[in-house]
Amino acid sequence: MADHPTLDPDLLDKVINLAKRRGFIFQSAEIYGGFRSTYDYGPLGVNMLRNVKQAWWRAMVQLRSDVVGLDAAILGPPAVWAASGHLETFTDPLVDCRKCKERWREDKIEGVCPNCGSKEFTEPRAFNLMFKTQAGPVEGEGATAYLRPETAQGMFTNFANVLSTTRRKPPFGIAQVGKSFRNEITPQNFVFRTREFEQMELEYFVPPAEAEEWYRYWIQARLDWYLDLGISPELLRLHEHAQADLSHYSKGTTDVEFAYPWGWDELEGIANRGDYDLTQHSNASGTRLEYFDQATNERYLPYVIEPAAGATRAMMAFLLAAYHEDEVGGELRSVLKLDWRLAPYQIAVLPLSKKPELEGVSREVLSMLQPYFMCDYDVTQSIGRRYRRQDEVGTPFCITVDFDTLDDRAVTVRDRDSTEQTRVALTDLLGELRSRTNQS
Ligand code: ATP
Repeated sequence: MADHPTLDPDLLDKVINLAKRRGFIFQSAEIYGGFRSTYDYGPLGVNMLRNVKQAWWRAMVQLRSDVVGLDAAILGPPAVWAASGHLETFTDPLVDCRKCKERWREDKIEGVCPNCGSKEFTEPRAFNLMFKTQAGPVEGEGATAYLRPETAQGMFTNFANVLSTTRRKPPFGIAQVGKSFRNEITPQNFVFRTREFEQMELEYFVPPAEAEEWYRYWIQARLDWYLDLGISPELLRLHEHAQADLSHYSKGTTDVEFAYPWGWDELEGIANRGDYDLTQHSNASGTRLEYFDQATNERYLPYVIEPAAGATRAMMAFLLAAYHEDEVGGELRSVLKLDWRLAPYQIAVLPLSKKPELEGVSREVLSMLQPYFMCDYDVTQSIGRRYRRQDEVGTPFCITVDFDTLDDRAVTVRDRDSTEQTRVALTDLLGELRSRTNQS
């Protein structure tokens, strides 16, 4: 697993180009020259990003009885970030290149300026990554607020609320998906590292004696999630941080790494955070964030296991892993071999011709499938070109309606990966598609 070469460096440009050309991801404020490190998710991208988050929510919340969800505020008062340690220590080492004056994150450049090659830098200084803003119309200390740099703190500050309203007992988890903001010094590699991004985080509270076991459990569960959604095993590996590299409160951290075109890099981190967070917030707020076990009459601070993933970063990894080029009928094609659960459109309904006779039955097929699948409908260009366009954005099934359909009430189902075509009666179509997507 670990020694496999990473993806071809050319792949990054191909995927960025495809993402823009086909409406996955646009540079934000492009008509004004673009705003660095911010991106907008277009008609296809928004579908795919929602699918990534939905797949996570399904695995982490819906299919489990020990995890509940939360959607906490993005704006927070300084007290939260003082207690969590972010005001003090959520910093990166910032250096200036003495020659070209560009600013860099020291730990990411290996002593050489990526812009001009110089090796001379200023002394590193701690740069806090939080976005500070002002809440309300009056400026001043009392008005200071921060945009959250991670979703996790909302789960800790609501620990008592969730306990008392849901009657959960450890081991149990609180899950959240939402935007986070970090004033990254060097945002880079498309949506891999941006200043505004989406996270998918679970805080899983356990009796301290079970922490190590659950830590190992979640490392495996999170690796399996990416595998289940179609990333091949040779593109993933686990990297356990050495004891010396851990933050002072962490009892263990393992990253799920992906074979990005620039090398192995983080996709998600799983950490055993001990009782650091609940202790900090208990002390700072005066609310004891403990669990009282009625069976043993014991009061204790649970340990926390935190699998923390990026939704936007995961989407990028899924795109990179899915991009393939092959030959069909002597022609080169690019195809996104996305799992059907992630594809922006799962079905494309394609009337063979624009002639009005085909429209009625084509719309009928579309209405039949729309409640179950995200569907596209396309009548432009030749059928061959339309297949290519759907392959390129990862649509697993094309349904072609032709003139025979009017007589035999059947359509052609074309499979994206094998390009195989099968004639299916309209009465069997929904069942057939549900069974091909393992939903029967
Ligand atoms: P790094 O060291 O690369 O800055 P981190 O280890 O601080 O990242 P975490 O705080 O563990 O990252 O965040 C959890 C996950 O959130 C990351 O694995 C990543 O998927 C995502 N993430 C973090 N920062 C960003 C960012 N700036 N842009 C996109 N995704 C991010």
